Amino acid sequence: MKFESQVVHAGDRKREHTEAIPSTTPIHLATTYFYETAEQLDRIFGHEEEGPSYSRYDNPTNSALEELTTLLENGHGSLATCGGMTALHIAFQAALLDRPHSIVSSSSIYGATVKLLDQILAPFEVNVTYVDICDLDAVEKAIAAEKPGCVFLESVSNPILRVADIPKIAAIARAAGAAVVVDNTFACPMLMRPLDLGANMVVHSATKYLAGHGDVLGGIIVSDADHHENVRMLSRIAGGTLGPFESYLTMRGIKTLALRYERQCQNARKLAECLAAHPAVERVYYCADPRHPDAATIKQLFAPDLYGAVLAFEIKNADKAKVLGFMNRLKMVVPGTSLGDVHTLLLYPAMASHRDIAPKMRERMGIRENLVRVAVGIEAVQDIYADLDSALRTP
Ligand SMILES: *Cc1c(COP(=O)(O)O)cnc(C)c1O
Repeated sequence: MKFESQVVHAGDRKREHTEAIPSTTPIHLATTYFYETAEQLDRIFGHEEEGPSYSRYDNPTNSALEELTTLLENGHGSLATCGGMTALHIAFQAALLDRPHSIVSSSSIYGATVKLLDQILAPFEVNVTYVDICDLDAVEKAIAAEKPGCVFLESVSNPILRVADIPKIAAIARAAGAAVVVDNTFACPMLMRPLDLGANMVVHSATKYLAGHGDVLGGIIVSDADHHENVRMLSRIAGGTLGPFESYLTMRGIKTLALRYERQCQNARKLAECLAAHPAVERVYYCADPRHPDAATIKQLFAPDLYGAVLAFEIKNADKAKVLGFMNRLKMVVPGTSLGDVHTLLLYPAMASHRDIAPKMRERMGIRENLVRVAVGIEAVQDIYADLDSALRTP
């Protein structure tokens, strides 16, 4: 071979080490795969045999992650996507592909998901109706009136942590022929598994608890047998799949999910107790609170002794300037958006996630100007509390 060919081929595509099994899934960056014989590749293109051929269809690193998430959410199959929003977009399309183009959605959802519904799907003739998802009568009426192709909700709402009765909602939706899509990002499969409760598709922003370290933007769709093929078909054509490096990081992150999430939940519970007794705190929102409006549903749906790792609290007599001052005084807690990371994150909804919502509407959603959200990390809880406590003291 001449130099120009050597630089392209030497060292690549070796077969002598195929007996050795790597102890973790390697990062397969190759976009194209071939086999010993062209006949085998032909069978793979013809779906008679499973295997990768081109990375938009299948990638060995992504397949390993997808096998893992399918198991964790007890689904039929998964798709790893380049972000939670892409996962939601594909899930909505998969739900509506052969159903009426109408979605009944919880009104209490992630801000970008509202924009996906209103600014991307609605202009393509998808009718979107919002409903208070914790009001079962209202949900039943909306489904009867709209006859939607899809019902959408988040398993735990952001930021005031309302928990809808997924089994009842799924039964009503399924009886009406609608697919049920649940965003399980906040709960993560350790707290509840929506497919077991009657959902058809579960979506995650893998950016949050699954990857867990603030260094991956990724998404996951786990589907039942009726929807998985639609999901894969959409991404086979339109792409949106996760990169193999991010797949590797997500899989690596998930290896410690149980440890991280258990610790984060324990920390959140202790923190909620301490903050409830703090003189500068007006009110704490946390799912372990026996006065929580959805306490019965929480008891029924959540795993025993786990109440989630997100809490929110209102600072006494605080306006925007005072909340910003409090954030400026934090030394360890990171005043940044996102959640699910090993480090504790504090978010101010009125400034960040719910910024674009009119103040009156925000108040109606229960999000006041003095409310902050804490996504509790794995640090020593004493350090997290000490940081919040000292920042809460007026300088
Ligand atoms: C972050 C988030 C998303 C969006 O996911 P990205 O990975 O940022 O695209 C969707 N839903 C919920 C509940 C989220 O927290």
